[in-house]
Amino acid sequence: MPLPSDTPPGTPQEAPPTPAGPAPLPQRRSEHQRGRPHHPQNQGQPQRGEQQGGNIDLTVVIPLFDEEESLRELHQQLRAVLGRMNIRYELLFIDDGSTDRSFQVLRDLRRNDRHIRAYRFRRNYGKSAALSVGFEKATGNTIITIDADLQDDPGEIPALKRKLDEGFDLVSGWKKVRRDPLTKKLPSRFFNYVTALLTGIKIHDFNCGLKAYRREVVKTVKVYGELHRYVPVLASWEGFRVGELAVNHRPRRFGKTKFGFGRFWKGFLDLLTVLFTTRFFRRPLHFFGMIGLLVMFAGAVIDGWLVVEKILNLTSLSNRPLFLIGTMLIIVGVQFFSIGLLGEMVSKAQHRDEEYAIREVLR
Ligand code: UDP
Ligand code: MG
Repeated sequence: MPLPSDTPPGTPQEAPPTPAGPAPLPQRRSEHQRGRPHHPQNQGQPQRGEQQGGNIDLTVVIPLFDEEESLRELHQQLRAVLGRMNIRYELLFIDDGSTDRSFQVLRDLRRNDRHIRAYRFRRNYGKSAALSVGFEKATGNTIITIDADLQDDPGEIPALKRKLDEGFDLVSGWKKVRRDPLTKKLPSRFFNYVTALLTGIKIHDFNCGLKAYRREVVKTVKVYGELHRYVPVLASWEGFRVGELAVNHRPRRFGKTKFGFGRFWKGFLDLLTVLFTTRFFRRPLHFFGMIGLLVMFAGAVIDGWLVVEKILNLTSLSNRPLFLIGTMLIIVGVQFFSIGLLGEMVSKAQHRDEEYAIREVLR
């Protein structure tokens, strides 16, 4: 069945290019990556800028899941703000398998506004999947993401864009005064604190829906699983400059939050994934080996001391449970160490050129 977003040609002048093909599945590799030979030289900025983009200044990517009541007002607000900016823009809605009338509303809106493009998933894949497809399909030189529930204020878009132009690759919104229930605010504050501490990225709010990116960032960073919370971490790891801007936040007026309490422990597990795939991906032994050595050392100290005691006092070791603990620590330590070595072997076997992010090339 053809999608409404694929509707008739004959679009007015400033209309963005129509998306090709039927409802996409979330894909981890973009068209850009697929067509591109895996050469470090090709990851530089100039090549990426030349592809596709250039026509559109700004793409607003809007992931949505059952947000029918908010969409019209959101569209109005976006239109007002973007109209004043005097730029060429597109509104890229990604309907993440809504079961309400969201997509019907988008269809109606598109009838009168050719800035709108929309993709609709067959089922709900999650916000990361929606962002991932949005990033892949975006044609603008700048990409702004915004939640569809009216909690993020479109009025902040010009300021985000200005901040980006100051020389950042990614500017993350910071819900400084957050309009959410306390049960969400407190864990979130803890989550942000731990993430900043462990990743070394000094921003206050990792999971703000409102963010601005330069084109290369969204074409480079892969958002899958539920890693949308960590886009700044992934981007920073690729060498992109990450900045932050305090933004206005509003209470949810319609519908309800799509993330339950499960977000916190999932977020924590994802933090481990992110730490692992960024900091220790190429040096697993640094992680496992360090733990292994520490544990082994503790075991050796305990057992060594007991053995010396036995030699000096001639007491028996059979009634010392501590000896067992020491021995266990040594065994566990050796295991950690071995896992680290195995990790090194796997990592070495998979080594490829493409992992180095090159910003610029002079030839
Ligand atoms: N969202 C989505 N897919 C999902 C869950 C959420 O596209 O599976 C969208 C949702 O419609 C909203 C944004 O992601 O536009 C943020 O979701 P929500 O407002 O529920 O998150 P919260 O504000 O509670 O963090
Ligand atoms: Mg929200």
